Amino acid sequence: MNKESKDFFYKLLKTPSPTGYEAPVQKVVKKRMEKYADTIETDLHGNLIVGINTKAERRVMLAGHCDQIGFMVKHIDKNGYVYMDRLGGIDNAVLWGTTIVINGKKGPVRGVFGKKAIHLTPADERSRPKADLNAMWVDIGAKDKKDAEKLITVGDSATFDLTVQELSNDLVCSPGIDDKAGLFVVMEALRLCARKKLSVALYSVSTVQEEVGLRGAKTAAYGIDPDIGIAVDVTHATDDPANSGQKTSPCELGKGPGIYQGPNINPIMYKMLVDAAKKHRTPYQPLTSGRLMGNDANAMQVNRAGVAAASIALPNRNMHTQAEIISLKDLENSAKLLANFIQTVTPRTNLRPR
Ligand SMILES: [Zn+2]
Repeated sequence: MNKESKDFFYKLLKTPSPTGYEAPVQKVVKKRMEKYADTIETDLHGNLIVGINTKAERRVMLAGHCDQIGFMVKHIDKNGYVYMDRLGGIDNAVLWGTTIVINGKKGPVRGVFGKKAIHLTPADERSRPKADLNAMWVDIGAKDKKDAEKLITVGDSATFDLTVQELSNDLVCSPGIDDKAGLFVVMEALRLCARKKLSVALYSVSTVQEEVGLRGAKTAAYGIDPDIGIAVDVTHATDDPANSGQKTSPCELGKGPGIYQGPNINPIMYKMLVDAAKKHRTPYQPLTSGRLMGNDANAMQVNRAGVAAASIALPNRNMHTQAEIISLKDLENSAKLLANFIQTVTPRTNLRPR
């Protein structure tokens, strides 16, 4: 991956964007994409919409959600310990001992989830710890409530400590890879297309509030009114001990983007994406979902009178933990696949299932 692209991806990963508090990361996206965009705007919901060739009558929308799971301060007790509400699907079992960063009024405030020491824990609780967020406290080092309130206030958002770790074989580990990886891919696809002649308008959207019900894609799709809507989001890899026993299509890190089939996917879109992958020798992994997708493709497909929807999936380990892992090669191949696909779409392409 080229250095500028990698720096952009890492900057996305290091910028907080808990659901509902996405503005800081949208600023990062805007700054980087301005030089490639014909139009760039933020809507009232907070979606950032980057467009090229926007005069064309057929519109393609790519959605990568910028929000990440996180927390919100709900209570500070008299001793200065902080209690958190969840933003999205936090896994309580991974919290004890974890560092979080609260976005305080004077800047970031670090804290750690405390835990009763093992020595003090009854034997039956040790093997089956009860992970209840309401009973978990964050220690920011404050002397008491008043001391804590100099730095933070009820309603402040928080995320895991946003660090990026490089593992071997081009794998990267960080919180929020769901779905800053997808956000990165939709913006890279637009960058690749910006140099090409397109016969469609392309809108890459950094969507908000996916983690609480696919809400940004819903409002953005209504506004853009696209014919084609493609969500780029993470999916569970099957190549680690957590998922190797699953009876799903194999999905491995480094083997290319997954292309989904199923009722949430327009069958012609699936075929065109596979054809584009084959033609340009881009690796891909065919995946199936008999259920509706739990991502922005779900919201886009039923926008207005219907959209030809597709879902590009980025194999991911440890989803919704602070140790999400992804392959940089998969991100590059996903962006290439999308750029190649978009160049095959014309105003005459018949997308009606037949
Ligand atoms: Zn996601």
